Amino acid sequence: MQNITVELVDEFQTVRMGQKLAACIKAPMTIYFKGDLGAGKTTLIRGILRGFGYQGATKSPTYTLVEPYELVGVSIYHFDLYRLADPEELEFIGIREYQQPDSIMLIEWPEKGLGMIPQADLMIELDYNNDGRVVTLSSAKSEIMQKLEKSCD
Ligand code: ADP
Ligand code: MG
Repeated sequence: MQNITVELVDEFQTVRMGQKLAACIKAPMTIYFKGDLGAGKTTLIRGILRGFGYQGATKSPTYTLVEPYELVGVSIYHFDLYRLADPEELEFIGIREYQQPDSIMLIEWPEKGLGMIPQADLMIELDYNNDGRVVTLSSAKSEIMQKLEKSCD
């Protein structure tokens, strides 16, 4: 599996990267967002939502686990599993019902929900890099990697 790595020198570039990514995302799709606290996962997701035309505020669903965005023709579900004590809790919020043909699942802290969340079509990792960040994209699906290569250069 090959990777794409892109440097993001400031918050603006993280948001813009998210907007570019949106062009490569099509329902149904599940994306994992990995990286330490403050690495920029929620910021990148804000950019993706902008790319889908959502201009409002992006709440971090740290306590609610999921924030839904019902947009035209697509439902985007932003999960933040940081505070999840047990993956079984996802059963109670009805995680399976979120997986529909028109759903995009954006999952922060997927490692906390393993076994209960759908497999990732795309994995995104954010790391600290001097004062900025670096993002690494990887997917086992070659058609996704090809799209990403085109839109990320
Ligand atoms: P996470 O969801 O990973 O915990 P957030 O997106 O909530 O992280 O917060 C990331 C913080 O880092 C925010 O204060 C944001 O302004 C900042 N940030 C985002 N991208 C960059 C970047 N490329 N360079 C420097 N700071 C960034
Ligand atoms: Mg976050």
